[in-house]
Amino acid sequence: MEFAIVILLPMVLLMAGAGILVVSQVSGFMQSSSLNQRQRFSNMLIQQYMVQIAMAQGQVFQRSRQLEALSSKLALSNQELASLNEMKSKFLSMVVHDVRTPLASIRGFSELLIKRIPGEREAQYLKNIVSSTDQLGRLIADLTDLAMIEAGKLKMEKAVFDSAELARDILPALSINAQKKGVELVVGELSEGVMINGDKFRLSQVLMNLLNNAIKFTPAGHKVEVSLRREGRGIAAYVKDSGIGIHPSETKKIFGKFYQARYQKDEKLRKQGWGLGLSIATEIIRAHKGDIGATSPGLGKGSTFYFKVPAA
Ligand code: ADP
Repeated sequence: MEFAIVILLPMVLLMAGAGILVVSQVSGFMQSSSLNQRQRFSNMLIQQYMVQIAMAQGQVFQRSRQLEALSSKLALSNQELASLNEMKSKFLSMVVHDVRTPLASIRGFSELLIKRIPGEREAQYLKNIVSSTDQLGRLIADLTDLAMIEAGKLKMEKAVFDSAELARDILPALSINAQKKGVELVVGELSEGVMINGDKFRLSQVLMNLLNNAIKFTPAGHKVEVSLRREGRGIAAYVKDSGIGIHPSETKKIFGKFYQARYQKDEKLRKQGWGLGLSIATEIIRAHKGDIGATSPGLGKGSTFYFKVPAA
C-alpha cells in the first residue's frame, strides 16, 4: 500500500502533467497557425487595396493634367472673347456716332421741305421720311445706351427730386401718342412729395418706355392707366394696360436683351421694336437699387408693368 502511494501517485501526477503540457502545446500551435493564415489573408487584402489606390492616384493625376490643359484653353478663349466683345462695343459706338449726324440732317431738311412744298402727296412722303428717321433715332439711342451698359459706362447723375415730376414731365407728349392711337390714357394716383435720390432723366426714360409699350400693345378703344404711389420705404410706378397681354412663360424673359415675346402673334407690332427698351430699363432700375417687373393674366388679357425705387 505504501509502495503504491510512494511510487505510483507521483508517476500518475507526472504523466497527467506531461499530458496537459502536450495538449497545450498542440492547441497553441494550432492557434498560431490559424493566426498566421488570417494575417497572410489581411496582408493580401491590404496589398490589393494599395494596388487599387496607386491606380486611382495615377488616374487622378492624369485627369488633373487634362483639367489643367482645359482650363488654360478656357482662359485663352475667355481672353479672346473679352477682346472681341471690346471690339464689338467700340464698333457699335462708332457706327452709332457716325449714323446720328447724317440722320439729324435728313430729318432737318425733310421738315424744312414740308414747309416749302405745297403738294399734299409730297408733304406726306416727307412726313414718312421724318417718322422713319424718328424710328431710326430711337434705335440709335437704344444702341448707344446698350454700348454704354456693355462698356460699364452708363453713369447715373443722381439728385434729389419729387417722384411725381417723373410722370408730370412726360405725360403731355405721351397723351398725344395715346390720342393718335385711339387709346385712352388715364392718370391715376400721383403721390406728391415722395422724394427720390436718382437720375431723373433716366427714370423718366424707364416710365416713358413702359407707357409707350403699353400704348403700342393696346388696341384702339382700350385704355392704359399710370400711377405713382408710395410703397413701404420707396416709390412704385404702375402702368396697367388692357392690351394683348403676355404668356406666363415670358413675363421675365421679355426683360432680356433683344427679346421679343414669341407667343404674341402680331408681326407688325414686333417689327416696330428691337426688344431693347426693357433690358435698358432693367439696368437703369438696377443702378437705383430698385426692382422692375411685369404681370399678366395671360394672352389677350392685358398686362401691368411696374418699377420700384427706394425713397431718398
Ligand atoms: P420692343 O418693344 O422694342 O420690342 P421692349 O424691350 O420694350 O422692346 O419689349 C420687349 C417685348 O416685351 C416686346 O417686344 C413685347 O413682346 C413685350 N411687351 C412689352 N411691353 C408689353 C405690353 N405692355 N404688353 C404686351 N407685351 C409687351
